[in-house]
Amino acid sequence: MPEQAGTYEKSDRRPSAREARRARNPHRAESWQPTVLRRVRVRAVESLAPELVRVTFEGDELGESGADAGGPDLVPAVCSPSFDDVVVFCLPDPATGEVTLPVPAPGGGLGHPPGGTALVREYTVRSLRDGALAVDLVRHASGAGVRWLESVRPGDELTIVGPRVSRALPAVDRMLAVGDATALPALARLIEERPPTLALDVLAALPDSPALPRTVLPAVSPADADRVRVRVVAAAPGSAEELIDALSAAALPTGFAWVAGESGMVTAVRRHLLARGQEPDRVQFTGYWRLGGPL
Ligand SMILES: Cc1cc2nc3c(=O)[nH]c(=O)nc-3n(C[C@H](O)[C@H](O)[C@H](O)COP(=O)(O)OP(=O)(O)OC[C@H]3O[C@@H](n4cnc5c(N)ncnc54)[C@H](O)[C@@H]3O)c2cc1C
Repeated sequence: MPEQAGTYEKSDRRPSAREARRARNPHRAESWQPTVLRRVRVRAVESLAPELVRVTFEGDELGESGADAGGPDLVPAVCSPSFDDVVVFCLPDPATGEVTLPVPAPGGGLGHPPGGTALVREYTVRSLRDGALAVDLVRHASGAGVRWLESVRPGDELTIVGPRVSRALPAVDRMLAVGDATALPALARLIEERPPTLALDVLAALPDSPALPRTVLPAVSPADADRVRVRVVAAAPGSAEELIDALSAAALPTGFAWVAGESGMVTAVRRHLLARGQEPDRVQFTGYWRLGGPL
């Protein structure tokens, strides 16, 4: 079964419904963390490119707590072992500024509180080190996430949840990773964190912006050049055509293919990969957002 969008539901659908559809991939071992809401503080807001903003969070609640305080359970420190781990942002209602927090749901997911609607969005953990968690957000035209981004300042507080599940890299020696701007944080982590034995083919579809790939995709060292290939094609958000053209130069099938971004784009890329002989359970595709409407 293909993987649908992320772990948690957006405000306009029941979280449990989305969770029920979440597929596991047999090639990626999962490790789970308890569902913990953490209050964090914005340490820095940095524009990486006109289209991309890095927000870095800090705060005691990122660390372990509970045992010393005599609490019933030890709350583990936040951790992010996998390149595509996500955190959920609990956002204010753009009209009222009020935040309605989600509640941990049976089975470890997130639900809306009784009588309320939590407004949540998911973002990839770009880095977690030295007590700071960073995410890179695409600055698109509208939406609760973008509204929050427009006004966020160092010192502001936010409640985040996760990462709740982390998936290990599949045990393969060759992997293809394809994504749009929203997948750049995961693609960048994959390049940085790949095991040295993994040959990696990365293909990103980005708006025609010279600053974007240069600032966010790590440079590949000459020593790695024969094992890591990174290509960027210019494409409008949601368009798969340019990616599929570029994939004609990819050696397929491959050990594992990871595809993330606009949902129509990932569906079209997956279809192309399957037509080229990729086994269905060796393609993980995730719709991160939907052009023209809610996911
Ligand atoms: C597992 C996972 C990981 C993700 N990681 C990241 C990440 O690291 N960085 C990141 O920026 N996003 C990431 N996303 C995507 C992000 O959650 C969506 O882009 C989200 O919809 C943004 O919410 P919003 O409130 O700003 O816009 P929404 O309210 O969702 O949408 C409002 C309008 O904007 C359009 N829209 C939404 N997102 C985009 C977009 N990215 N580009 C262009 N138009 C858009 C919609 O079509 C809609 O018309 C991830 C999503 C998932 C599921």
